[in-house]
Amino acid sequence: MIYLALDTNIWLYLANGLDPISNKDHGNLHFELIDRLRDFVQRAEITILVNEVIISEWERNKEHAKHRIEKLKRKAENPKQAFAEIKRYVSRNVDEIEKEFIAGLVRDIELNEEHIVKVETFLKEECQIIPVRDELKIKVFNLSISGKAPFHNKKNNIADASILFSIVNYLEGLTYSGDNQVIFVSNNTEDFTDGKNKDEFHPDIQKELGNKNIQYQRVLPSALELSETILLQIEEHRKHEAWLESVSFSCISNLCVHSESFTPWGYLDKELEVKYESNETIDPDQLDLFPELPRQPKESKKIGISECVICSTTHLLCPDCDELISVEDETEKLSCPECQTQIQIIHDQDPFLLVYDLKEDLIA
Ligand SMILES: [Zn+2]
Ligand SMILES: [Zn+2]
Repeated sequence: MIYLALDTNIWLYLANGLDPISNKDHGNLHFELIDRLRDFVQRAEITILVNEVIISEWERNKEHAKHRIEKLKRKAENPKQAFAEIKRYVSRNVDEIEKEFIAGLVRDIELNEEHIVKVETFLKEECQIIPVRDELKIKVFNLSISGKAPFHNKKNNIADASILFSIVNYLEGLTYSGDNQVIFVSNNTEDFTDGKNKDEFHPDIQKELGNKNIQYQRVLPSALELSETILLQIEEHRKHEAWLESVSFSCISNLCVHSESFTPWGYLDKELEVKYESNETIDPDQLDLFPELPRQPKESKKIGISECVICSTTHLLCPDCDELISVEDETEKLSCPECQTQIQIIHDQDPFLLVYDLKEDLIA
């Protein structure tokens, strides 16, 4: 699972689209970002971690999220002045343009008001709220008086530190942690990095995080891109695991079959070409006794083959019936216990599996 944790400023940024550092307006990017986050969450590809501290910080600061709306409202309140000026020089269509301008502003205000509600609902209802235990509160308090990052700049980072460090507890509490990746997003490079390397956690913080797979990202859009890459990697990894699972076998060699304590296994992850004796012996010059019978060469194929990881005995799948066969002696002809097809591994320059024309039961 991919987890995202966003600091308080990022939540505000999601709400008003104003870059927390430059205060620059990122247009309607905030609409797009929240939709992409919700898509990820609804498809269960990403979980967003929040805690009670982040939620109460949001409550305390959400008025700031309305900055954009206030700006728009101020514009909407005073159009007469601007348009009186315009009307002095432009004679046609100004009333229409004025109407359109005001309608646009009103719509923008509505959209942004709805958007803030959307962000708040998302934060409180669609994100994973993780507990902040008392030990963690003590730990964050101790860190805050120790002068270590993220408290080395004498700023109040309790909320953001609490979300970051509660992730560690949260990950420890998960039963399966195989593919878990966490991305912590904060624009606050001053407190979360050492200022020299702004793409990595401050060494103090890294020490606190231990071996947990938690990455630092400055900006949300790039964190989302990063999570998409990770999603692809995880998908590849899962496909590979699923494939390995599909070709795995339990060893049936004499050496392992009686093992009681555990099940020896292997993966039929290599391929061996199959050649048929009959194909090899079709000789165009030879007198054919039954010329009316079509002698179709059998289609070439490949079978899965590999060794048991414990006893190294080669196992392969019968080219005729797909039964698992253990090859105790690779130099000998053997017959499939299921369908009696006679086969032999030929260790040529390009090894192959030779399939004989007659089955064992037909010989006998
Ligand atoms: Zn074995
Ligand atoms: Zn068989």
